[in-house]
Amino acid sequence: MGKPNYLAAYPLELQQQVQALLESGRLATHLANKYPQRHAVQSDAALYDYVNELRQRYMRNAPPVSRVLYDSKIRVVQHALGTNTHISRVQGGKLKAKNEIRIATVFRDAPAEFLRMITVHELAHLKEKDHDKAFYQLCMHMEPAYAQLEFDVRAWLMVRETVVE
Ligand SMILES: [Zn+2]
Repeated sequence: MGKPNYLAAYPLELQQQVQALLESGRLATHLANKYPQRHAVQSDAALYDYVNELRQRYMRNAPPVSRVLYDSKIRVVQHALGTNTHISRVQGGKLKAKNEIRIATVFRDAPAEFLRMITVHELAHLKEKDHDKAFYQLCMHMEPAYAQLEFDVRAWLMVRETVVE
């Protein structure tokens, strides 16, 4: 199996530019200089607080998130940067909904902006299930730089895979 193409949704010319930067070794440096700041969200408890703080600030009307965790088993591919599960079950005649957000563990060691991007992405899924216009509008509402950040996160994932292999 080949490597996932994290930039498949972007114009070919842009993909080729990033690929050239990657091969010359300059992509890693570029991203490290652009995003020098790490974050302190290292435990699942800290991640829970971080996610819920953003939810309360921007998505007060969205359903609550009952469980938040870093998950090392998530394979970070094109459309699964994190996962978002919505479990509904009937308890004592009442329908109880539970939302769970799992963030791929690679984001624990990521620049602060990248954790924010993935969190915004998963929070937006509480309201919008598909990656459509309404979804991205919601992401931009929470993080105006969302589009650039998602692109840079994908480039960063390419760097990481190159280093690991
Ligand atoms: Zn998504």
